[in-house]
Amino acid sequence: MSAGAPKLLKGDTGEWEIVIGMEVHAQVLSNAKLFSGASTAFGAEPNSQVSFVDAAMPGMLPVINRKCVEQAVRTGLGLKAKINLTSIFDRKNYFYPDLPAGYQISQYKNPIVGEGEVTIDLADGESVRVGIERLHLEQDAGKSLHDQHPDHSYVDLNRAGVALMEIVTKPHMRSSEEAAAFLKKLRAIVRYLGTCDGNMDEGSMRADVNVSVCRPGGYQRFRESGDFKHLGTRCEIKNVNSVRFIAQAVEYEARRQIEIVEAGGTIRQETRLFDARAGETRSMRSKEEAHDYRYFPDPDLLPLVLERAWVDEIAATLPELPDEKKARFMALGLSAYDAAVLVAERETADYFEEMLKDGAEAKAAANWLNNEYFGRLNKAGLSLAEGPISPKANSAIVQMIAADVISGKIAKDLCDIVWNEGGDPRAIVESRGLKQVTDTSAIEKAVDAVIAAHPEKVEEVKAKPKLAGWFVGQVMKQTGGKANPQAVNAILKTRLGLPDEG
Ligand code: ADP
Ligand code: MG
Repeated sequence: MSAGAPKLLKGDTGEWEIVIGMEVHAQVLSNAKLFSGASTAFGAEPNSQVSFVDAAMPGMLPVINRKCVEQAVRTGLGLKAKINLTSIFDRKNYFYPDLPAGYQISQYKNPIVGEGEVTIDLADGESVRVGIERLHLEQDAGKSLHDQHPDHSYVDLNRAGVALMEIVTKPHMRSSEEAAAFLKKLRAIVRYLGTCDGNMDEGSMRADVNVSVCRPGGYQRFRESGDFKHLGTRCEIKNVNSVRFIAQAVEYEARRQIEIVEAGGTIRQETRLFDARAGETRSMRSKEEAHDYRYFPDPDLLPLVLERAWVDEIAATLPELPDEKKARFMALGLSAYDAAVLVAERETADYFEEMLKDGAEAKAAANWLNNEYFGRLNKAGLSLAEGPISPKANSAIVQMIAADVISGKIAKDLCDIVWNEGGDPRAIVESRGLKQVTDTSAIEKAVDAVIAAHPEKVEEVKAKPKLAGWFVGQVMKQTGGKANPQAVNAILKTRLGLPDEG
């Protein structure tokens, strides 16, 4: 684990560091809302999932949903965070047409989860730790619909009251790559935990991305002292809803800030929006226009008090999480990179483990998936679940390569056949005669035939042993790709009288 060398941006007056902190809203997976029994299912008819509590009818009282609390605790444990046994729900007051109560119930000074940590995996196999500041529970608001009528806006309250977890990081990310990797990792963790489905295109997960820039060394001084004065003024980009957009928004925003500061201006702390089509961020409101939410403890709700034993019970049912799985896969001989790719989604890791259960060796199975099968799925635009080859079949292919039953080249052809026609790979190899020829006399015959047909090439190769590859190719052609390449090489060397390392 490294401290994470910063990616520096070059400006006209020198270099700059980027600093990023994120506030992620993750919708809690639960059948009912945070304080009512209304359904949370996605895609229902507008206003078909609204209880009197959600519509803020007078006299209605919120009742906390135990399942949502459990999910928040489970997520906190997955973030290796401190669980606060007492937390408090506050009213966050503001006016908005899709907020019938005139306030949102949230947690302000006393969140249910305190400091934690997420380890992110970068493309070069390196890992970086990102501190978590807190996680709190809050209600989602409804949705205003402006495209239904020329003169009127409508309100859909189906989302109103749905439980959200707001997960706030420390400003510990330092490049668009790290910001994207953080969101991917967080999404993997909540999916493993089953606490949020992580579907960003359905709005189940969205990020407010805080970006600032400073001169090299500023971040280091911040980490040593904890003093934010060493960092630049941040801008917050609201509601970014894809990993790709997060990376684009960071890149654009950092550049924008550098240009302003280098031209002698100052950054105003403000809220901005990312326009995905234009690829740029635009001002929404400045700090001065920021709401004063007048938080105060909701008098309808008691402080939320958890029993230590209940938290321990939840901890005991936590699944193996991506980091632990990655470590276990690395212990089987996988590289950090291969292991990180396989654990990124639970389904992928499960598929890989199915292959091992069926007898494939770990490193060979990982190579086959990462270098061959995932590429095919990608090209076909298929998810792993939609892919046509079962773990058992891929396991059989990998085992036949390892046992020299088929060559790597034939394995690809075999994969084509199983992909298109299905069937048991071992039976296909038998019935179509795809077995590798290891029988020396058959290979000798093929070698001799090629040598006899090309006497001029023999002279060339003797002078330049590196050209022996041409003969190997010819022999493979003659045997339909089924000759064992090592055997072909060995026999060629003897027949042509080439040195061993040639
Ligand atoms: P607020 O209370 O105004 O929302 P917070 O202190 O909660 O502010 O910070 C919100 C987010 O902004 C956090 O994720 C934090 O890490 C991030 N952040 C704070 N200062 C900076 C900075 N200078 N640069 C980048 N991100 C920052
Ligand atoms: Mg905040």
